[in-house]
Amino acid sequence: MGGLRVDLSGAEIRGDPGAAGDPPVFLPRQPAAPSLVALDIGGTLIKLVYTASCGGGATGGAELRFAKFERRKLQECIEFLRAQGLLRCNGSTTGSTKENTTLKATGGGAYKFADDFREKLGVCLDKLDEMDSVVSGANFLLQNIPGAAFTHMNGKRSSIDISPNNLFPYLLVNIGSGVSILKVTGNRKFERVTGTHFGGGTMFGLAKLLTGCKSYDEFLQLSQKGDNFVLDLIVKDICGELVCQKQGLSTSTLASSFGKVITSKKKLTDYRPEDLASTLLSAFTYNIAQISFLVASLLGLRRVFFGGSYIRGHKSTMENISYAIDFWSQSQMQAVFLQHEGYLGALGALMSYGDPVDKNMKLEEMKEEENTHESAAPADGISADEHNGGNIFPYLLVNIGSGVSMIEVIGNGKFERIIGSHLGGGTILGLARLLTGCSSYDEFLELSQRGDNLSVDLTVGDIYGEHGYPKIGLPASTTAASFGKVSSSRLSEYKVEDLAAALLNSFTYNIGQIAYFVANLSGLKRIFFRGAYVCGHEKTMDKISRSLKYWSKGQVQTTFLCHEGFLGTVGAFWSYKNMGIDGLAAHDVIREVLLGVPYTGQLPPLPLTQQQDNLSEANVGKDTSEGEVERLRHDNAMLKAELERLQRENAELRAKLVKSGETNTL
Ligand code: ADP
Repeated sequence: MGGLRVDLSGAEIRGDPGAAGDPPVFLPRQPAAPSLVALDIGGTLIKLVYTASCGGGATGGAELRFAKFERRKLQECIEFLRAQGLLRCNGSTTGSTKENTTLKATGGGAYKFADDFREKLGVCLDKLDEMDSVVSGANFLLQNIPGAAFTHMNGKRSSIDISPNNLFPYLLVNIGSGVSILKVTGNRKFERVTGTHFGGGTMFGLAKLLTGCKSYDEFLQLSQKGDNFVLDLIVKDICGELVCQKQGLSTSTLASSFGKVITSKKKLTDYRPEDLASTLLSAFTYNIAQISFLVASLLGLRRVFFGGSYIRGHKSTMENISYAIDFWSQSQMQAVFLQHEGYLGALGALMSYGDPVDKNMKLEEMKEEENTHESAAPADGISADEHNGGNIFPYLLVNIGSGVSMIEVIGNGKFERIIGSHLGGGTILGLARLLTGCSSYDEFLELSQRGDNLSVDLTVGDIYGEHGYPKIGLPASTTAASFGKVSSSRLSEYKVEDLAAALLNSFTYNIGQIAYFVANLSGLKRIFFRGAYVCGHEKTMDKISRSLKYWSKGQVQTTFLCHEGFLGTVGAFWSYKNMGIDGLAAHDVIREVLLGVPYTGQLPPLPLTQQQDNLSEANVGKDTSEGEVERLRHDNAMLKAELERLQRENAELRAKLVKSGETNTL
């Protein structure tokens, strides 16, 4: 296969780069024949890139074309390859018979389906490393295709030209079924820093179950017509508008995705699919953006490129990623998107035509050594025992309430909130209510213990086969995408126990990962967890401990901070008294601890904020004393509701203490 390669000189995108779909790339110097083809067989989609004649005769150049198929419809892909004559003339130079045909292929399916291709089609797959291909594809687009990189902010798409001298290093976040995050330092030079199981597979899996949608495009369309504030808990819902004003908090700050479901009597069928879709899209998009921001910060990188079919050229998705990266980084980082973002792996595989056959092998060996660490910068953890008697400050306090707050505590009564996550206890219970119909957190936990998450979670083994993806240290049993195996949009086809197990697993691992990155970023070696969704719930604590152990490669031991009343019930605890937060005034706790806060106000005028906009519109001209009284009434009602909630929680805790025979010290 040595002589054939893609001639990239003069390459350019055909048509309007901003138009929907995947416009071909014109290659003026590429011979029209033979065609070259490469496949990326991922966990959800098969991506195909091939060269084809563009009608100008033998000397008229060729174009790169793009096609994709669902992985479960492999047969359709094969038919397409046949129909386009791509199985006949795919670049093999060793002969024209099918037996000699070799296709460049990457992604887990290249390993898993290699025998199928050989037996059913007599076609060999030349397997290429997935991460290597994704990076090559990104570098190909960035270095050869004018206009391939662009930003999307405030409703505006702007092409950016990046000089080759100024390209590296950058962070590449590839959002497929799961998410891979890579630090790219040059051509073929990269490291997979980390990843998350909360990717496109998770969002689309949950979307099928919650909205009944049948295709990804249908889901995206629904999300455009929806209003996430129907289900999302925002700061105003917790504190009321007046308190927000007094505390200087933005009312539209997202505190807990799906958090409103908990206090509502509505069932899943009472919600509009549009609103559910909108909530899902913002929940997952912000989460991925937040993790990307944390990793980029840890690595000191300012430019973050996003790829993978999750993005799908969808404006709101890009807009929200951009907004989140800009907000968290205080405009120090930039989110950049790529044309043909879903085809990075396939493009990289196509570019490998002409490489010496042993080149990939050498690279594999090299990376085996490089990629032994999953996470960015492991902390040198300190075990809970070492806290005894010594100074425990500073530490990271992770409060899992409706949302998650991460607070740096530096001394007695001295603390500062660093960041929050909108995917907290309210999200877990909210989704649990919708998916399983459970009525309490205890019931949800009980369900989860009887369930098997693997019936809905997509594992590395499901994508790659029994050997997993050893080169980057991912065994077959690792979850690649929570809920990524959900194929049916009929919720009744899934066991509530399995859904509960997957929910508990996926969300606690996500919280653990974010906490670990935040602690690293802040140079904190101790992490304490507390909050209504943690204390007293043995299973939740167990999952969080496992999660921290996983992300920190066993270097961080998790400690739970509960009221003394719970001491000794489960695991390692520490008491408030010793933690320097005794002095927190109640309103500080509400302000600092209850809120998730991934972003604040001033979102661009997108569907995600439509209700906010409508609200402001509705208030225009109402700024009279009547309007003020109305607002005060509303604030009052919200405060009352919050007070009642706290009183209820207090009573529950008292009841638990009495039941456990401990002195009531609350
Ligand atoms: P993989 O290589 O794991 O298949 P991709 O980069 O192809 O990953 O991205 C798959 C994700 O893209 C899905 O999980 C979903 O979120 C989204 N997606 C975009 N288009 C589609 C589609 N037509 N069908 C299913 N999912 C899609």
